[in-house]
Amino acid sequence: MLFFYCMENQKRYRAIAIDGVSSSGKSTMAKRLAETLGYTYIDTGAMYRAVTWYFLEHQVNIEDENEVSKALDKIFITFRMVDGKNVCFINGQNAEPYIRIMEVSDFVSLVAAISLVRKKMVSLQQEIGKSADVVMDGRDIGTVVFPEADVKIFVYSPARLRAERRWLEMKETNPDITVDEIENNLNMRDHIDSNREDSPLKRAEDAFFVDNTNLNVEEQYETALQIIKGKLS
Ligand code: C5P
Repeated sequence: MLFFYCMENQKRYRAIAIDGVSSSGKSTMAKRLAETLGYTYIDTGAMYRAVTWYFLEHQVNIEDENEVSKALDKIFITFRMVDGKNVCFINGQNAEPYIRIMEVSDFVSLVAAISLVRKKMVSLQQEIGKSADVVMDGRDIGTVVFPEADVKIFVYSPARLRAERRWLEMKETNPDITVDEIENNLNMRDHIDSNREDSPLKRAEDAFFVDNTNLNVEEQYETALQIIKGKLS
């Protein structure tokens, strides 16, 4: 399928869009797929999280459009390689150490529902796709960012299972966290993400549906890889 042309050298870049519900293992899978394919991996959730962290740090009132707009003008998001990983930077600072905390997770869907925020992030994502083959994961990649993506995959599993899997990953660094707390956050985010007016989370009509309830990380990756190989060949 024809996608983006880079006007200077007429090179055609490919986009693999991975969307789905929160904490469904999209990022782990997308990262590995990008490595295998030799594509650039972009975690768009990290971008919304970085903006949210900035808004929290600077006490930006998200009800005030003017304040949001001014804050966005001061935010520069880039991706840089750190220890072989493509990492999100905000205003020259590595965002990773700050954006996975619960305060950010609890607030991010409200920030991501703001059209001004989405406009800026989507335009950045589309720019990246003009100069590199990408595997991008998020909520609106196949529907809004790259509606003509070469391959679209939508990942799903039930919230309780996702919360249990996430708890296993978090319990070392956050021993007080409970499965219920994580599940509540996932349900809350999925609800806001699916019901917002601008670019709601939904499966693109032409997206492959991957329910990973009975798949482990390896099987999910293999399933996606076969889908991509089949589609690109
Ligand atoms: O992917 P992750 O769970 O880190 O994303 C955090 C939040 O960012 C999501 O719950 C959603 O509100 C927002 N998001 C979005 N669109 C994307 C990626 C993430 O609205 N493309």
